Amino acid sequence: MSDWRARIESHIDSIEPQLRRVSQEIFEHPELKHEETFAAQLLASELETAGFETTLGVAGLPTAVQAVHPAVTDGPTIAILGEYDALPEIGHACGHNLIAAGGLGAALAVGALKSELPGKLVFFGTPAEEGGGGKVDMINAGLFDEVDAAMMFHPAAHTMVGRGSLAITEVKIAFHGKPAHASGCPEMGINALDAVIQTFNGLNALREHIKDGARIHGIIRDGGVKPNIVPEYASAEFYVRAQENDYRDELLIKLRNCAEGAALATGAQLEFIEVGHAYKAMKPNRMMGDRFLEHVESFGIPFNPELDDAMGSTDMGDVTQAVPGIHPYVQICEEDVAGHSREFTEASGSERGQLAMLAAAKALAMTTVDLLTEQELMRKAKEEFAA
Ligand SMILES: [Zn+2]
Repeated sequence: MSDWRARIESHIDSIEPQLRRVSQEIFEHPELKHEETFAAQLLASELETAGFETTLGVAGLPTAVQAVHPAVTDGPTIAILGEYDALPEIGHACGHNLIAAGGLGAALAVGALKSELPGKLVFFGTPAEEGGGGKVDMINAGLFDEVDAAMMFHPAAHTMVGRGSLAITEVKIAFHGKPAHASGCPEMGINALDAVIQTFNGLNALREHIKDGARIHGIIRDGGVKPNIVPEYASAEFYVRAQENDYRDELLIKLRNCAEGAALATGAQLEFIEVGHAYKAMKPNRMMGDRFLEHVESFGIPFNPELDDAMGSTDMGDVTQAVPGIHPYVQICEEDVAGHSREFTEASGSERGQLAMLAAAKALAMTTVDLLTEQELMRKAKEEFAA
């Protein structure tokens, strides 16, 4: 085993300039969800060059990548994942450029040894994590049907392996009222903006009585066009999140009740639309996570005792509900830097970010080899998943 470790380490050291370049190029070309043509093509060409059977465009997603190492024998199928979408205006403020390069590095390192290893190695380039749910489409297309375990890493302000993620559904709430002169004949109008405001008020009353850890947060998208016209149309967008998928569904009904109440009170017509893919809550595999942590710590990445801090949501949640999986966080900056901030963007392009990416690539590759070669570990990971 120590032999594998040394060989993975030296392989990643040998391709370090390539991984740094991939990370930096994606960092400098931030692309929004489903528009990641530069990043997807870059990853596909690197994998193709390394001998992987590579397809750009799978599951109906032009910027998704599937790359299978041609040395396939009996044994488990392990998937290494890479994300690469950025955020509007603030670029790689979630560090997905590092995820892409780290996942690529892990796949290339295991690929270099694969002819001596059992099983099957797959790299998935998974687009549109930021609200597009690329992984959900890839699961629905059956790409994970034969996968035994899946993993990726995510940059963060703390190193954490057991942290989950919240189930989420995005909702658009629109109200249709009736325009009228707001001063001359207000009695003839129906105010759609009032319905949106009443929805927020109802929700804020509800908030006191929801479970800890759940989140409902929204913005007003349309609120009328001119103060002297009774708003004919108004809309809001909400994210509804909870630690369990079922509770998220329950909260959706409660939010809908708030909106229906607002419609009744104002006379406006309600349109309640669930937008895009809902994401499931994360089920991090402890067996796999412990192994990843052991490896990543050996490269000098300090582990922060498991924090009970607030969680976001990710389509990796859906992957971990489909197969045993992990989504460990690796520290790339000081602990007080917020995710999705300009400071985090800076960290994603920093030297410290690159070093964390390289350590994560090694740890992902080593965890993959562990799962391919240790039947007992794979069995325990599956047992935990099934429990
Ligand atoms: Zn992210």
